[in-house]
Amino acid sequence: MFFLENQDLTNKKVIIRVDLNVPLDENKNVTDTTRIEACIETIEKVIELGGSCVLLSHLGRPKGKDKNLSLKLIVETVSAVLKKPVLFHEDCIGSDAEKAVSLLSQGQIILMENVRFYEEETAGDIDFSESLSKLGDVYINDAFGTCHREHASTAVIAKFFKGKKYVGKLLQKELEVINQIAEKGEKPVLAILGGAKVSSKLKILYNLIHKVDKIIIGGGMAYTFITAKGGKTGNSLFEEELLENAKEILSIAQETGKEIILPEDSVASTDFDNNDKIKTFKTSAIEDGWMGLDIGEKSIKKFNKEIFSSKTIFWNGPMGVFEKEKFSQGTNAICLSLKQAKEKGVNVIVGGGDSIAALKKLGKKEWVTYISTGGGALLESLEGKTLPGVKALSNDY
Ligand code: AMP
Repeated sequence: MFFLENQDLTNKKVIIRVDLNVPLDENKNVTDTTRIEACIETIEKVIELGGSCVLLSHLGRPKGKDKNLSLKLIVETVSAVLKKPVLFHEDCIGSDAEKAVSLLSQGQIILMENVRFYEEETAGDIDFSESLSKLGDVYINDAFGTCHREHASTAVIAKFFKGKKYVGKLLQKELEVINQIAEKGEKPVLAILGGAKVSSKLKILYNLIHKVDKIIIGGGMAYTFITAKGGKTGNSLFEEELLENAKEILSIAQETGKEIILPEDSVASTDFDNNDKIKTFKTSAIEDGWMGLDIGEKSIKKFNKEIFSSKTIFWNGPMGVFEKEKFSQGTNAICLSLKQAKEKGVNVIVGGGDSIAALKKLGKKEWVTYISTGGGALLESLEGKTLPGVKALSNDY
C-alpha cells in the first residue's frame, strides 16, 4: 500500500473517492460539514503535488437518479469549506463526464454526480468500475466511512490503477488510529464499550480482548456479563443467547491476564418511558421490576481509576440511556474524565455514532484526541477484518 507523500502528480487527473455523505435538513442545507472538512488535507495535497481533483462520492441511498440526493445540492458548501471553487458534473460516467474532466487544468476540482445513482455502484460491477476509472490517471481512496463495502468506487475501481493508487490522508490517519487501539498503542490500552447490546459488539469483544489490556463494559451490554458472573439484574437488558459467549470472554480475560471491568452500581427505573421512580442498586443485586439505565457514582469512580491509569483509550458506546437527562450522568462523567485524561497526554480515540453524539451534546468534540469518521468501517476494523476498500489499495488486488 502506498501513502500520499511526494509523488509527482503534475497535470495528473486524480480520482479521489471521498465520503461526502453529509446530513441535509428539509430545505436541503448541509447541517454538519465534518465529512467535508475531513477531505481537505488530501485535496490540498493533490493540488500541491500538481494534480487536479476528480471527486467521487455517494449521498444517501438513492434508488436510481434522485434530485433530492444530488451532490449538486452540496457543491456550494463543499466549495465554501474547501475555500476553493468546485465544479460539478451531472453524471459520474460516460463521454460527457470524461470530457468535463479532460478540460480541468492543474489545481482545479470537480465533483461528479452521486455514484449511487447507478445500482452498479453498490453491486461492485466491474464494467461500471472501468467506466469510473476513465475519469483519472491516479486513484486515491480517502472514504474511510465506506471502506467496509466492496463497491465499485470504493474498491473494484482500484483494479484499474495498478501502481497508481494511494491511501488518502484521512484514510491513513484512520488506519493509524486503529493500529494504535489494536496493535501499537502506548500501554496500558483501555477500551470502553457501551451501548445497548452485546450482540452488535460481540466480534469486537472477542478481538479486542486479545489486543488491549483492559475493557470497561458499560451500558445495557453490561448486564449480560453481570448475569454471567452470577449477579441478579432485575429487568435490565439481557441477551440470554449470549450468556455463554459472555462467560467465554470473561474466562479468556482471566486466562490471558486481561481485565474486564463492569459497573459496580446502576441507576434504575421501573419503566423505560415513565421514569418517575428512580433508585440506585448494586449492579449485581437489582430487584425484579427494576432496570438499570445508567451507571451510578461508584461505577464512575471505578471507571475513572482505569481511565486515569491508561495511556491509550478507545471509547465506543454510551454508559446509559444518555438521550434522557436522568440517565445521562454516567456518559457525561466519562466524557469529562476523557477530557482530563487527554489533558494529561493520554491518547483518547472515540468512534461510533452515540459516543460522538454524547460529546456533541456537551458541545465538546475537542475534549478527545481523535474522533473517527467511520461507524461500520471502524467497528469492522476493530473486529480484526481488513476492509475491502483498504485491501483494494494493495497492488495484488
Ligand atoms: P448501540 O447502538 O448498541 O451503541 O446502543 C446505543 C443505545 O444504547 C443508546 O440509544 C442508549 O440509550 C442505549 N443504552 C445504553 N445503556 C442502556 C441501558 N442500560 N439500557 C437500555 N438501553 C441502553
